[in-house]
Amino acid sequence: MKIAVPAEVDLGEPRVAATPDTVKRLIGLGAEVAVQSGAGLASGIPDADYQAVGATIAATAGDAVSGADVVLKVRRPTVEEIAGYKSGALVIGIMDPYGNEAALAELAKAGLSTFAMELMPRITRAQVMDVLSSQANLAGYRAVIDASAEFGRALPMMMTAAGTVPAAKVFVMGAGVAGLQAIATARRLGAVVTATDVRPAAKEQVESLGAKFVAVEDEEFKQAETAAGYAKPMSAEYQAKQAALVAEHIKKQDIVITTALIPGRPAPRLVSAAMVASMKPGSVIVDLAVERGGNVEGAVPGEVADVNGVKIVGHLNVPGRLAASSSQLYAKNLFAFLETLVDKQAKALAVKWDDELVKATLLTRDGAVVHPNFAPKVE
Ligand code: NAD
Repeated sequence: MKIAVPAEVDLGEPRVAATPDTVKRLIGLGAEVAVQSGAGLASGIPDADYQAVGATIAATAGDAVSGADVVLKVRRPTVEEIAGYKSGALVIGIMDPYGNEAALAELAKAGLSTFAMELMPRITRAQVMDVLSSQANLAGYRAVIDASAEFGRALPMMMTAAGTVPAAKVFVMGAGVAGLQAIATARRLGAVVTATDVRPAAKEQVESLGAKFVAVEDEEFKQAETAAGYAKPMSAEYQAKQAALVAEHIKKQDIVITTALIPGRPAPRLVSAAMVASMKPGSVIVDLAVERGGNVEGAVPGEVADVNGVKIVGHLNVPGRLAASSSQLYAKNLFAFLETLVDKQAKALAVKWDDELVKATLLTRDGAVVHPNFAPKVE
């Protein structure tokens, strides 16, 4: 069983799909591991660290993937990359399948079995493989660090002989994995934190972190969660009341961090241009959803936009801004999944194609796109 770890080709991607720790574990499963020279450098991992645990260092991507049974990636490989992959190889990464049907068809045509880690079910057994959580947690932390770097004031209250600096007011919109970590981080830095979400269950989580929950809590809101823990669509009347409350609240905030995402759909618009205009100059907004259409009107992917003195931060690949940490957790997520695809006695791949984790993540196999959400529709 040969496992390859090529370097990422996207210039905006500093993460790597294996670390010396996971390479050691992979070798423990009976694998030979080939890492492309330089693959870990942007995450602070030199070739020598991989070599020290038993990996072979390949001079080129082609050498690394040649004859490999498994290719571990961060991003979906390009057509040029897969040209060197063995037909039948397993390719595991963040595949970004929505709206990329043509790319999936290429992966199928190359005879690859490709797995999208972001489609992993959120069940207890798969928690250790949950790349959305491992990366969103770091993004939530980094959003506060990025906001404070753009903010011309301190976050904690400081009482000094020369006067008092007030605590910054931070408002977090969307209290999922990223939002909860943003709340915790802003609290650690001494800010006064409020947060909102459309799921009533988020209220208790927000409050347990010492932040105040801001939402219209009428009878409709109290009934707004499905049995599965997801938000129900809200009435137009509720949405109008909630928007009015948020508009009033945002005016008084120093920092706003937005994190709301809906799988497979554009991000919901939470902050309008009028709300941005109502904020004080010097305020900062970080839009963590900018790559998915953005929660904030005026956010520009990859830029820090200045709108009448309000900075709107639209950094791309925020987990990648903490590459050493995000690679460490991502590599562990991949290892935990790959371990389930291996027969430990035989020290060989033994994919259980009917396993629920495999079925949920498998995009292509045997020349076809097989995932029900992405397979071509039969008319
Ligand atoms: P996400 O990244 O899809 O969205 C972030 C948050 O934005 C969510 O809390 C969502 O409710 C919120 N949101 C969506 N539309 C909004 C709007 N219009 N206004 C305000 N907020 C809005 O979510 P996530 O971080 O992936 O977490 C989603 C859920 O899954 C949470 O309940 C989380 O606790 C749960 N979860 C479960 C597991 C597990 O059991 N293994 C792991 C991770 C997350």
